[in-house]
Amino acid sequence: MKTHYTIPFFILHKGCPHQCVFCDQRKITGRRMAAPAEVPERIERYLETVPSAGAAVEVGFFGGTFTGLPMELQDSFLGPVRKYIDSGRIRGIRLSTRPDFINEDILTFLKGRGVVCIELGVQSMSDRVLSAAKRGHTAEDTERASRMITRAGFMLGHQMMLGLPSSSADDEYFTARRAKELGAAQVRIYPVLVMKGTELARQMDDNRYVPLAEEEAVLRCARLILYFESRGIRVIRCGLHPSEGLLSGDDLAAGPFHQAFRLKAEGRIFSFMLDHVSREAAREDNVIYLSFNPKDEAGIFGFERENFSKIERICGRDRDRFRRDEDIPRGCLLIAEKGRMFLLDRKTIADSVLPECLRD
Ligand code: SF4
Repeated sequence: MKTHYTIPFFILHKGCPHQCVFCDQRKITGRRMAAPAEVPERIERYLETVPSAGAAVEVGFFGGTFTGLPMELQDSFLGPVRKYIDSGRIRGIRLSTRPDFINEDILTFLKGRGVVCIELGVQSMSDRVLSAAKRGHTAEDTERASRMITRAGFMLGHQMMLGLPSSSADDEYFTARRAKELGAAQVRIYPVLVMKGTELARQMDDNRYVPLAEEEAVLRCARLILYFESRGIRVIRCGLHPSEGLLSGDDLAAGPFHQAFRLKAEGRIFSFMLDHVSREAAREDNVIYLSFNPKDEAGIFGFERENFSKIERICGRDRDRFRRDEDIPRGCLLIAEKGRMFLLDRKTIADSVLPECLRD
């Protein structure tokens, strides 16, 4: 299997006419945007660090409404990538945009310039939630754009948010279901963070908005990862990338920010799995052996080894009963006990722990 690499460029939509309640446009406009002239040099630099064999490399334009930029500017970003695609060094281009900035002409233009994946900033499939977030588009825009994108042969990505004003867990599970039904192959999940200076921060100060608690955000994310992965949809990001302003706290007013957010969610999934093993197999007289893929070790132990006591309850203190095994598929546990051996995969766990609305 090839390892995926993305060479990222952050394209800010300066002067965006929308006013999403969670977005601080002053910070966006104050930030430096990548310039088209930097594209070839940055690609060359990245390619030097990527192994020549077994790598699938893409160029990604993120951070704004790419297809809302003037056509000439879009062209000046995409054009320099062409020669790398033609030479086979770059597999293609991915970009993110709003659902209401997609039409047939735009898709034809992008197709001709080597774009292979379009990620839509969906955020929610509830019009009530979209309206409360002042997104300026509807769920129908997402449906229409998603269908056009998949029909035109692009890979479709959906980006969704957890904890938007007036959004419930059920709204978010519904958004996830629609992502699957609309053919998303990849998703990014972002718990809402309250950034200083935003309308959301003012709503919070007036007690009109309560951010998600970290534990709840981790739990919802863990369920969504289980849902998507068990349906063959890759979750390529969970939680915002930790920028300097987030790490220092200068930009963040409140919300479930954690540098190891994905690890926390993975740890929660393995916690579900360990609970399942305890229920199914752990009895006084039963000696259980657990095997796992070494790449899952951090997730199995969980953040700050929070799953350790569950592992010990199942395997005792005998390290031999808790084994790394490269042949075990990622995300699974192999359980061996007297007279039987079985593989516990994410589909099985999804079926047992997901809420009714996510079982299909
Ligand atoms: S998040 Fe909303 S307001 Fe901010 S740049 Fe994107 S569309 Fe514009």
